[in-house]
Amino acid sequence: MSPAKKEGRLYLVATPIGNLKDITYRAVEVLRQVDVILAEDTRRARILLNTYNVRKPLMSYHDHNKEQCTPYILKQLEDGKNIALITDAGTPGIADPGFYLVKKALEHDIQVVPIPGPTALISALSASGLPTDRFIFCGFLPRKKGKRQKLLEELTGFKGTIILYESPYRLLKTLMDIKDIVGENRRIVLARELTKIYEEFIRGTADEVVKEIQSRPAIRGEWVILIEGSSAEEKTE
Ligand code: SAM
Repeated sequence: MSPAKKEGRLYLVATPIGNLKDITYRAVEVLRQVDVILAEDTRRARILLNTYNVRKPLMSYHDHNKEQCTPYILKQLEDGKNIALITDAGTPGIADPGFYLVKKALEHDIQVVPIPGPTALISALSASGLPTDRFIFCGFLPRKKGKRQKLLEELTGFKGTIILYESPYRLLKTLMDIKDIVGENRRIVLARELTKIYEEFIRGTADEVVKEIQSRPAIRGEWVILIEGSSAEEKTE
């Protein structure tokens, strides 16, 4: 482990997952002080930054340009520039392109500083009513059916709460896989549009939750899926 020695710092600044008021004083202060802000979506970032009167150069940093941009960003950091990374929502590095930059920065002995704040998985877990003492976060399940089902099979015996992210387009398909593989009686919580106007929690067995989603005319918004862990009884069945 080598001590960080370069002057520029990479700040990972957590931003709101919906409600623009969910940002810390420190996050705003850091955004006002850095030399450059990297943003996954510069248009969306501008709305947030204008709200807090942050006027700093913005640079686009997303999944499709991260490999191309990273050498330039590392050079800026090595030259002593302080840079903040914000992603579309929540904590950079959690199911977004942040991880790649963090890894590269650390390989270059650059100090990486987390500025904590919202993240959808923790907000969902805290209000889910499912056990919070042990949990596993798996991000988005693989899109390929075989891989998705294999991962769900591996997760079936996990005793803590299982947390997944899912898009509205694949939500129903994923829930049906959960019902088939993990079991129709397993308790599920869906957390939708957290911190926004249409925030909603749907709780029930896998079977009930699938029926509820099937009954809706349209599936919209952002979703977190939480699956109750396997119980001792289930294991001995
Ligand atoms: N970095 C983010 C975080 O800290 O939570 C996650 C980014 S990931 C690309 C986007 C996914 O997070 C969405 O598809 C959804 O599953 C989840 N998500 C983000 N905001 C949400 C919200 N307000 N309500 C429910 N889920 C949300």
